[in-house]
Amino acid sequence: MFDAIIIGGSYAGLAAALQLARARRQVLVLDGAQPRNRFAHAAHGFLGYDGAAPDAIRERGRADVLAYDTTEIRSEVATAVAGAQGDFRVTTDGGEHRAKRLVLATGVADEMPAIPGLRERWGKSVFHCPYCHGYELGRGRIGVIAAHPMSIHQAVLVAEWSAPGQTRFFLEDAFEPDAQQLAQLAARGVALERRRITQVAGDAEVHVAGGEVFAFDGLFVATRTVIRDGFAAQLGCELEEGPLGAYYKTDMMKETTVPGVFACGDVGLPMGTVAFAVADGVRAGVATHQSLVFR
Ligand SMILES: Cc1cc2nc3c(=O)[nH]c(=O)nc-3n(C[C@H](O)[C@H](O)[C@H](O)COP(=O)(O)OP(=O)(O)OC[C@H]3O[C@@H](n4cnc5c(N)ncnc54)[C@H](O)[C@@H]3O)c2cc1C
Repeated sequence: MFDAIIIGGSYAGLAAALQLARARRQVLVLDGAQPRNRFAHAAHGFLGYDGAAPDAIRERGRADVLAYDTTEIRSEVATAVAGAQGDFRVTTDGGEHRAKRLVLATGVADEMPAIPGLRERWGKSVFHCPYCHGYELGRGRIGVIAAHPMSIHQAVLVAEWSAPGQTRFFLEDAFEPDAQQLAQLAARGVALERRRITQVAGDAEVHVAGGEVFAFDGLFVATRTVIRDGFAAQLGCELEEGPLGAYYKTDMMKETTVPGVFACGDVGLPMGTVAFAVADGVRAGVATHQSLVFR
C-alpha cells in the first residue's frame, strides 16, 4: 500500500511526487512517457530551462524525485482505477497497485483539423501557443488556421509576434467573424483568407483551393484538448468545460470532486504550460500530503 500513486510522470506528476517524497511518503509514479510537448525540440518560457529540450527537463525532474528512496517510478500505463479514499486500486499493463491517495497528472491530447500535412509539422513549424514558440519566428510571416470560433482570439493575439501586416488568418469555414471581430482583425493588420486549405507542405507552406501557395515562418492552430483516459468516469470525478476542452473540476488545493483524488497539470487546468504544470503539481503534492496528515 503506497501513500500515493501518481498517474503521469511528466512535469506535473513529478512536481507532485517531489513534495510527497520530501515528506518521506511512499510514492509510486506510473508513466507512459508521452508528454504533450514531445513533438517539439525545445520548450520555452520555463524559468531556468528556457529553450531546453522537453526530455531534458523531465529527466532532471525524474532524477530529483528518484534521489529520495521512498519514491518509485515505473514505466507502466494505468488502464483502470477503482476504490475510494484510503484504498485506491490502479490496474496497469504490469499488474495492480494500491494507494491511500491518487494523483491524476495524465496530461491532454491535441485534436487538430484534418488538413493534410498539418499533424506531421506539429511542434516543428505548427504550434498552439505563441508564448511558447512565437519569439523564435523572428517577427516573420505567420499563418493562423481556424479550428473553431475561439480561434479569433489566437489570430488577433499572434499578430503581436509577426512583422506588421504579416499575419494571415485562414477561416476554414470554422465560423464567420462578426463586424466587431473583423474590425479587430483589421486593426491588428491581419489578412483574412476564405479559400479552403488543401495541404500544408515544405516547412510551413499553405496551399489553398485554386493552387495559390502562402509561405510562412510558422503556423498556429488552437487545438481542442481531450483527456485520453476514462478515469474521470471510473472514479466519478466531475469535469469542467474550458474554452478549448474539458479538465478535472478541483478545489483550490487540487482535490477533485471525489475525496482523495487530486488532479494537476493540463488535466487540472483550463490552459497548459510547463510552468503551470509544475506549479499545479507542487500544489497537488502538498495537498495530497496534508490530506494524509489531517484526515
Ligand atoms: C507541440 C507543443 C509544444 C509545447 N511547447 C511548450 C513550451 O515551449 N513551453 C511550455 O511551457 N509548454 C509547452 N507546451 C505545453 C506543455 O507541453 C504542457 O503544458 C505540459 O506538458 C503539461 O504537463 P503535464 O505534466 O500536465 O502533462 P504531460 O507533459 O502531457 O504529461 C502527461 C504524462 O502522463 C502520462 N500518462 C498519461 N496517461 C497515462 C496512464 N494511463 N498511465 C501512465 N502514464 C500516463 C503520459 O505518458 C505523459 O508522460 C507545448 C505543448 C505542445 C503540444
